[in-house]
Amino acid sequence: MPSAATLLSEYFGFDAFRPGQEEVVEAVANGQNTLAIMPTGGGKSLCFQLPALMREGVTVVISPLIALMRDQVRGLREAGIEAGALTSGNTQEETDAVWDALEEGRLKLLYIAPERLSAGSALGMLRRINVNLIAVDEAHCVSQWGHDFRPDYLRIGELRRALGVPLAAFTATADAETQAEIVNRLFDDEQPATFLRGFDRPNIHLAFAAKNNPRTQILNFAAARKGQSGIVYCGTRSKTEKLAAALRENGHAAAHYHGGMDAEDRRITEVRFQKEDGLIVVATVAFGMGVDKPDIRWVAHADLPKSIEAYYQEIGRAGRDGGPAETLTLFGPDDIRLRRNQIDEGLAPPERRMADHARLNSLLGLAEALECRRKTLLGYFGEDEVTCGKCDLCDTPPEVFDGTQPVRMALSAILRTEEWYGSGHLIEILLGNTNDRISARGHDQLPTFGVGKAYTRPQWQAIFRQMMGHDLIRPDPERHGALRMTDTALPILRDQEKIMLRKDSITSAKRRPAVKA
Ligand code: ADP
Ligand code: ZN
Repeated sequence: MPSAATLLSEYFGFDAFRPGQEEVVEAVANGQNTLAIMPTGGGKSLCFQLPALMREGVTVVISPLIALMRDQVRGLREAGIEAGALTSGNTQEETDAVWDALEEGRLKLLYIAPERLSAGSALGMLRRINVNLIAVDEAHCVSQWGHDFRPDYLRIGELRRALGVPLAAFTATADAETQAEIVNRLFDDEQPATFLRGFDRPNIHLAFAAKNNPRTQILNFAAARKGQSGIVYCGTRSKTEKLAAALRENGHAAAHYHGGMDAEDRRITEVRFQKEDGLIVVATVAFGMGVDKPDIRWVAHADLPKSIEAYYQEIGRAGRDGGPAETLTLFGPDDIRLRRNQIDEGLAPPERRMADHARLNSLLGLAEALECRRKTLLGYFGEDEVTCGKCDLCDTPPEVFDGTQPVRMALSAILRTEEWYGSGHLIEILLGNTNDRISARGHDQLPTFGVGKAYTRPQWQAIFRQMMGHDLIRPDPERHGALRMTDTALPILRDQEKIMLRKDSITSAKRRPAVKA
């Protein structure tokens, strides 16, 4: 049986678990009775969909919302998973198809509306098929005191007893009374494995920085934490080797780790990391699955992670012992371009690529956040009540300024050159510098030529990066990475919306001497 992580990426195209998901998947797949309390949007569905794939037979899913069930069934089918629903909204054809799939033993997930449970035939039917698990979505609907009470949910306990299979209950409602009622009515008062964990890791300090000299930035970060165990994540294998060497030259104990090394070398590094105090491992994302070291004091990203989920998972390897831990994530326009290209050039269907872009946007939104990173991060996972005080933006709130005017200038330069150029060329136009390419194309005749002299080249680079971070512009791989405007930018272009930019990343941008291209 492939691992949960493999199925996660093969069927759903996700690179990492959301907080809390992995533990729940494991318990459910092992056949434990489970109660998982996760915020809305936290990713509950996967917690029964993955175990359904990992177990023989059919998983019965009970959910009160017909539209949601149909949605999930559609999504599962698109992912190549046999799923069907029996609801009052079905056509006869749909129902017949579900029955056929059941009889032939093909179906992996069967969604049932609760009112179906009171039809006498349902139990008989479910007895005849090989049910391996009952999953109950919105389990708080068994609570007679809540507003969502569904009388039919009271039959679920009976169903569990009759079928003698494990049950996994999911809800976003966390209060103790509701929990007790769920345990009473669904599990006959036998305490299930219960997962209620905030996603916050309050001991981990969060920080991002724009790349200017990444090697030096990482070396400085490590130098301030000499003798502590840490991980540096890099985007490429070769970079892990170079950076590990640079760290050693600077007096650190450091080793590299990536998927291209043979198994024995990788194992040696894993064991060293586990046993030695103060070793730094410079690695690709291949490092981490098996790492269970409680006292990792810091995690740095030399390159932007793949998604906000991957970011959370990777920084989450620090400070498992509860002691203070530090993180630093570097990002730059090249990372953004690389990640966008990876998505666009991937083989995923268009809707998934759109979702991947959206997830990348969330990570970039976190990178360019104007207020508390923890709030932004946990808000994305559905957790709203957040106290922080342990992130770079709480330490020093960023100064912001109204960036509408320079952003509109940049957009105008992009549109007037018909979205065929990268930021380098566009910035020269804004600065009013001539070069062969500019004069050959007549770009020195554009009304935008030289309108951006109030900013320096590095400042413009920071503005373009923030524009990418806010998804106002995107490189088009079919135009060699030329920048194109997105719909998000329209209200700004039309002067209907303002955009605030961070001043610090603009004033601290590294100055490079002007070069004639
Ligand atoms: P819930 O039922 O908890 O409200 P869902 O199961 O509907 O949440 O998931 C919310 C969204 O999160 C969905 O769009 C889903 O595809 C996405 N999602 C879930 N797990 C992951 C993951 N590990 N990585 C990326 N996206 C995920
Ligand atoms: Zn904060």
